[in-house]
Amino acid sequence: MKDLLTADFRNAPYWWDAAPLVESASSTPAPSYDAVIVGSGYTGLRAALTLARAGRSVAVFDKEQPGHGASRRNAGFLGRTLKKSYVDLKAAKGADYASAIYRDLSMAYESTLAFIEEEGIDCHAVRCGRLVAATSAAHYAGLERELAGMKADLGLPYTMLPRARMREEMATDLYDGGAVIPDLGSLHPGLYHRGLMERALSAGVEILGNCEVTAIARGRVTTTVGETRARDVVVATNGYTPKSLPWHARRVIPFVGYMAATEPLPPELLQKQLPHRRTVIDSNLDIDFFRPAPDSSRLLFGGATANGLEDPAAIASLLHGRLRQALPDLADVKLSHVWTGQCAGTFDMMPHIGCHDGIWYGMGYNFAGVPMGSFFGLKIAQRILGLPAPACAFEQAAFPTLPFYRGNPWFLPIAMRYFAWKDARLARSA
Ligand SMILES: Cc1cc2nc3c(=O)[nH]c(=O)nc-3n(C[C@H](O)[C@H](O)[C@H](O)COP(=O)(O)OP(=O)(O)OC[C@H]3O[C@@H](n4cnc5c(N)ncnc54)[C@H](O)[C@@H]3O)c2cc1C
Repeated sequence: MKDLLTADFRNAPYWWDAAPLVESASSTPAPSYDAVIVGSGYTGLRAALTLARAGRSVAVFDKEQPGHGASRRNAGFLGRTLKKSYVDLKAAKGADYASAIYRDLSMAYESTLAFIEEEGIDCHAVRCGRLVAATSAAHYAGLERELAGMKADLGLPYTMLPRARMREEMATDLYDGGAVIPDLGSLHPGLYHRGLMERALSAGVEILGNCEVTAIARGRVTTTVGETRARDVVVATNGYTPKSLPWHARRVIPFVGYMAATEPLPPELLQKQLPHRRTVIDSNLDIDFFRPAPDSSRLLFGGATANGLEDPAAIASLLHGRLRQALPDLADVKLSHVWTGQCAGTFDMMPHIGCHDGIWYGMGYNFAGVPMGSFFGLKIAQRILGLPAPACAFEQAAFPTLPFYRGNPWFLPIAMRYFAWKDARLARSA
């Protein structure tokens, strides 16, 4: 087992090497603010920055150090799709609804890239393209149907890549072909978050770490380090949503995502694995994913979502197995970082934004929170400011829960086994 890990192995996100967490300056809240935001990830900071630049006094509270959540832990894939496929959504809810949802996803994607450029946030944001690798011939056919539907209705580009051509994109024979979506992007999530945080601080936002919100009632926000009042409150806690916010906790399904970084590779070896430096995701419901680090010659990858493991060595062993299977040239490389982060699913597999009982929220990103969190944070701020921002399709849907669900996802292992069964059944149908 030790042979899998480098001597300087860290059980922490690779991204924290370039963007380490920092303690916040102040430690107790002021008596009142115009707006209080719970959670210091992309959602909370984007809302806070927009509100502060409009002249509001804003505080962001985080129960850990600022940026401790998924926003500095994710893979940095920038996309415009959901687990709920476009074709399935169209069949279930009609063409108008599916197009409106997918147009908003595109808007979230484009507006996040535009924001990064306008702000000059140096976070390696690029339109590198994405390879979706089909795990069976039937998955390949399904992928082609999905992408053809999106191209016909939404004009989104793609190129199918049959099995015989896969090695043009990835040094593997594992997959039954795939598709390249040429204009999807990636970034360094740690540097993006740090840039957002620096801009929020410069705009006058107070960011308090180690400040856990324990209750919100009629404009009064109670925390472990004091109480404050706010005209507007935003809950931006996604996969870390606490049970002390029961309405929200009943609606999100927290689950753990796993990632690892290899030791620095000889540049030509990395180049051989992913010659076009695209992000890669497989077509399973329980995805494996790969990408080159934007700032070194390492490969970053993840998968085996919600498998219940906590021990870093066991996680490293499981992930290394996935790496060897997909990229056999890397069978002997060691891992320098292994880390986890909390994601949030929802019962309808859709992200949600809205206002309940006077409290704003944006959450349930289902692995799409880099663009969607940034977009929802902006939208929430626009609503609070009363700006004439265009309606968002995600605002219209009710936020479902299940009877007796209180935020403890005991059913996750069963759900993951169901996803694996669905993937295998589809694979057999070829
Ligand atoms: C391993 C992994 C890989 C991922 N890869 C991708 C990807 O490639 N692309 C993509 O789009 N998405 C990805 N995601 C999802 C994405 O990272 C999240 O959806 C997004 O970062 C959520 O941002 P957020 O601001 O809503 O929440 P977070 O960044 O998770 O922040 C929530 C914060 O709330 C705080 N908090 C919780 N309770 C309280 C409380 N009571 N009081 C105060 N603070 C509290 C937490 O401490 C935390 O800091 C990934 C997630 C993981 C874990």
